[in-house]
Amino acid sequence: MPRIDEKLIPIYEDVLRRNAGETEFHQAVEEVLESLGAVIGKHPEYLDNALIERICEPERQIIFRVPWVDDNGQIQINRGFRVQFNSALGPYKGGLRFHPSVNVGIIKFLGFEQTFKNALTGMPIGGGKGGSDFNPRDRSDGEVMRFCQSFMTELYRHLGEYTDVPAGDIGVGAREVGYLFGQYKRLTNRYEAGVLTGKGLIYGGSRARTEATGYGTIYFIDQMLKTKGASLDGKRVVVSGSGNVAIYAVEKVNEFGGKVVACSDSSGFIVDDGGIDLGLLKEIKLVRRQRISDYVGLKGSGAYFSNKGSVWEIPCDVAVPSATQNELHANDASALIRNGVVAVGEGANMPCTPEAVRLFQSEGVLFGPAKAANAGGVATSALEMQQNASRDSWTFEETEARLAVIMRRIHDSCAETAEAYGAPGNYVLGANVTGFVRVAEAMQAMGVI
Ligand code: NDP
Repeated sequence: MPRIDEKLIPIYEDVLRRNAGETEFHQAVEEVLESLGAVIGKHPEYLDNALIERICEPERQIIFRVPWVDDNGQIQINRGFRVQFNSALGPYKGGLRFHPSVNVGIIKFLGFEQTFKNALTGMPIGGGKGGSDFNPRDRSDGEVMRFCQSFMTELYRHLGEYTDVPAGDIGVGAREVGYLFGQYKRLTNRYEAGVLTGKGLIYGGSRARTEATGYGTIYFIDQMLKTKGASLDGKRVVVSGSGNVAIYAVEKVNEFGGKVVACSDSSGFIVDDGGIDLGLLKEIKLVRRQRISDYVGLKGSGAYFSNKGSVWEIPCDVAVPSATQNELHANDASALIRNGVVAVGEGANMPCTPEAVRLFQSEGVLFGPAKAANAGGVATSALEMQQNASRDSWTFEETEARLAVIMRRIHDSCAETAEAYGAPGNYVLGANVTGFVRVAEAMQAMGVI
């Protein structure tokens, strides 16, 4: 049994029993419950009011069929999901993931995490997540459009700017959000810009939203380093993944004077000791939609590709796992520690296994958990909603300046909570407790609903 306060064990056992087989959801709940022992000491009323049980149960779970016709005229069937986890602080808010691995357990883990992350931003947004087991990779634009239209034809009835506001995630970028928004507009006959975020700039998107998750993660790491009188300047950095989060993390590391020497995709990783050529990486991933291995040939010299071993064996000072859940294991953490890593910031959601997190913490490595470190994306989505509501559009500089302030506040509130609970520097505890208490207080105020 995990390190959960004994008063909370029955709650955890209930979660295991009622959500059988949903391993990622169990993992996310376990990680939050581990932090809550100290909270129920200060707030016994949370137990009396069943607040933890209620927070672990999504408000609504929607699973639906998504039929569509491929380019060969064949009918394809996918499964769609939307888990509306918690609306105590605002409309459900969280991305859509299109990836073959998607199932209800993964969407529930993401929605659960999202609830606390959104609370940490200090903005009026609840938590939700959705997606499908559809794989947009190797599909034509027409197929992606028909899939998105079919997906939205069911989902639209559950959405609304005051109800539920999805965004992108793995496999859902500007193209997919455009098709989804178009179909929503057509079905409802309303130009309700605030119903989706991550929109294109020409039709209601926010400047800096594309960059926000990656930038925000690096701002968070910078804040952690500052507490030790250090900075990213001159640091060697490894960023896993090469999607939205990873690319803009690389960009911000460069701006802070660091050097990213390796990144990856699901086929392997590249190492370029002179520093990853960001322009080339963007061309390969954002324009040509190619594999990361193509970097080596296009770069000419100085770089190599490997599909053996792990990107975490490449020595670095700072690690930014930005691909997917459970991609950094205990042996990877040991390799990073052996090679002198000083800070790890989670760009992806739950990329480090619990064993890896414990190793980082026990060895004094600064560790920024996802729900704090990557909250810049959803925070900027909330800024997009603000601009849509006021029919305004801010400059890139103004939006990024707000993002930087939000990331500093998230960092400071996690650090202050950790300190107040006698665990200075423990950002996992700080993030879990701060996010949980905000949601719990709002739920308590609203009664049993
Ligand atoms: P993208 O689809 O843009 O990129 C994902 C990247 O991760 C790709 O390089 C992909 O490689 C790689 N990847 C995906 N699955 C695996 C896997 N099983 N093994 C190895 N590599 C994999 O997604 P995002 O960058 O948007 O999202 C990345 C992470 O960040 C996710 O955990 C997401 O939930 C999280 N996140 C994203 C936010 C956002 O604003 N986009 C906000 C907050 C969190 P390949 O192309 O080969 O599949």
